[in-house]
Amino acid sequence: MIPYGNHEALAWVAIGSNQGAVWCHIKRAMGLLQRHWRISLLRCSPWYWTEPVGVRRQPWFINGVVVVTTTLSPLPLLHLLQRIECRCGRNRHREQRWGSRPLDLDLLLYGTQGQTIIRSASLTLPHPRLHRRRFVLQPLADLAPDLIHPLRGKTVDRLLVAVDDPNSVVRVSRRRQQCDDL
Ligand code: ATP
Ligand code: CA
Ligand code: CA
Repeated sequence: MIPYGNHEALAWVAIGSNQGAVWCHIKRAMGLLQRHWRISLLRCSPWYWTEPVGVRRQPWFINGVVVVTTTLSPLPLLHLLQRIECRCGRNRHREQRWGSRPLDLDLLLYGTQGQTIIRSASLTLPHPRLHRRRFVLQPLADLAPDLIHPLRGKTVDRLLVAVDDPNSVVRVSRRRQQCDDL
């Protein structure tokens, strides 16, 4: 059963940026999440430089994953993520699919064990491409290697070992990982 109303759930959110002041966008997004009264930021993965997937001629992305507790149900949480993207300068109408953007926030998994399954016009859970992307699986595995993908029936670690994604994912230098630096 999906925890609605005031029940707390965990949610794993992917953060990506490859346009403009990428670290500023990421820092701002984390601050806006942190300050929201129905969200607590629990942990943040290491950050990675990642080779773009889909559209080749664009800068590499910075990618990471955060896990939050929230009393928002999945759709209001997605809407909040989209408002944060807008506040960081994202304009969906002007961008190419999988092209450059100042901020992309994807809801990867939701529920106490990430077990929520949703297929609606505006929200699919688990995120439909998470199991195919090294740039998502690597930071997710840093946070939750034993979490089971509810449709694949495999842990995040096993999905990462098996993923057929040739695109590079390079851990950001240790100095840059410092949260103060973000
Ligand atoms: P991808 O989904 O392949 O990572 P993208 O992040 O570039 O691509 P967007 O343009 O950010 O795609 O979002 C397209 C639509 O995906 C949004 O309008 C949103 O409603 C929908 N969507 C469905 N499920 C999710 C989810 N789990 N997380 C984020 N967006 C989702
Ligand atoms: Ca995305
Ligand atoms: Ca997105």
